[in-house]
Amino acid sequence: MKSIKILIYIFIITLAIGCNNSSIQQADTVLLNGKIWTGESDSAFVQAIAINGNKITAIGGDDEIKKLIGSKTRVIDLKKKLVTPGFNDAHTHFLSGSMILSSADLLSTTNLGEMKKALLAYAEKNPEKLWITGRGWQYGFFEGGMPNKKYIDSLIPDRPVFLSAYDGHSGLANSKALALAGITRDTKFSGFGEIVKDANGEPTGAFLEGAQSLVSKVIPKATEQEQLNALRNGMKYAASLGITSAQNANGNVEEYNLYKKLLDMNELTMRFSLGFNVGLKTTENDIADFIKIKNETLNSPWLKGHAIKFMVDGVIESHTAVMLDPYSDIPVNDRAQKKNWNIPPQKYKELVVKLDSAGFQLYTHAIGDLGVRESLNAYEYAAKINGSRDRRPRIEHIEQIQADDIPRFAKLGVLPSMQPIHADPGTVDVWSKAVGEERLPRSFAWQSILNSGATLVYGADWPACISLDPIRGLHNAVNRRTTTGNPATGWVPEQRISLQDALKAYTLNAAIASFDEKQKGKLIPGFLADLVVHSQDLFSIPSMEIHKTKVLLTMVDGKEIFKREGF
Ligand SMILES: [Zn+2]
Repeated sequence: MKSIKILIYIFIITLAIGCNNSSIQQADTVLLNGKIWTGESDSAFVQAIAINGNKITAIGGDDEIKKLIGSKTRVIDLKKKLVTPGFNDAHTHFLSGSMILSSADLLSTTNLGEMKKALLAYAEKNPEKLWITGRGWQYGFFEGGMPNKKYIDSLIPDRPVFLSAYDGHSGLANSKALALAGITRDTKFSGFGEIVKDANGEPTGAFLEGAQSLVSKVIPKATEQEQLNALRNGMKYAASLGITSAQNANGNVEEYNLYKKLLDMNELTMRFSLGFNVGLKTTENDIADFIKIKNETLNSPWLKGHAIKFMVDGVIESHTAVMLDPYSDIPVNDRAQKKNWNIPPQKYKELVVKLDSAGFQLYTHAIGDLGVRESLNAYEYAAKINGSRDRRPRIEHIEQIQADDIPRFAKLGVLPSMQPIHADPGTVDVWSKAVGEERLPRSFAWQSILNSGATLVYGADWPACISLDPIRGLHNAVNRRTTTGNPATGWVPEQRISLQDALKAYTLNAAIASFDEKQKGKLIPGFLADLVVHSQDLFSIPSMEIHKTKVLLTMVDGKEIFKREGF
């Protein structure tokens, strides 16, 4: 049955590329002797692939594909290695992530001591930097779950320092930065967020959510050239991890223009789609710009600006996510128990209806269970008002969910866009205390959501995570254990998913999430030649070995964009 199907593929492709009966079109590239996971459920593995131009033109056994080798064909021996479709990261902040590669990268530090060491090393290595910026501290590094300027004042007293938490939702400034930003005990902030102050009313150096802008606005802005260079580095790094497409979960016209510039210079080595930020400050002019970009880019295989990103709440660690019931680690009458909407629900609903009717795909960041519920409500309402169409609205993160809301994803056609690395057990201490025992089974409920029939989509949320690496994501999706094996039985183990489902969430389902499933997410004829060769067979190794897998080769559009030495 399988070989008949393959012969049919070859036949169709032969017709499609206009050959006559006497000759078969030579392939530009063939990959032989591999274990190729096509992503098709009825014929999951083949040995070989042929590529012409930027597309896959045939798949099958070595013998069949060898017939397509001509004098100019490049032949790659896969040495029995596993090949999968390129990873498609469905939720990233690619420019901020790329900028971090040239700032103090604290994402891989695991405690306060390591963080301080990395920060100091960076400051010493970059004496010319007027500001020391960086990202990656975790709430659990600090007593009480929140940082204080005292931890960095003694390290770097003479230069301003501003460090974002790994999730980007909180920041830490030293005294020098507070002074330059003019922040004193009298400074007030009225938007979504907070200047954290101690019992005496003095700013501690910690900032929540939007209040971070009080400091970040005085940091000299990167030039366009610096940003373009950062993106070039970011793409290189992503290629080494097998990422061939990324969906940007925020952005503005300025950021879009950077990708457009790279595209025009023929320098994009990844495919991007963008969701533009919309909130209370968005103007009609902004929306007109977004509509223009959407209409111009809707069918581009490289760069689409077809989506809108809302944010209804914050994060659990700082008690800014909107929960139905009180947080477990603070008194019930604590000020932080107040439901902190980033956009008031009624206003959010109006914006959802309006932008949905303008033809955008909608993303909503919702982490708390009430935030998730309101997002589902708004999408349901928009469909009722604007009528049916293939709209694929998405909810980003969904860290807590009520049982009643789980079936609504499949029913309403809403895509759950989740990040397996956010549930790394090494990083959930502060998070778990805030959520409490009783709600734990509803944490990052991947398997329950899959069981309901929804299309689960994965990404990393880089740089709001400890690693951009999809392999680390797969490891956690399947194990819910740290790479060193903790906890032994897995953290909320009933929500682990199979490797096949996790891979799908990072490939085909991610392609569905950007309306690209007819050209990406599978390795079959007619699809774009975006693929990854892995050092280990993810399907046959013990699941705790997954994280050791390295990418050997990454191909985008039929071109090699990364090759590990020795392969
Ligand atoms: Zn995000």
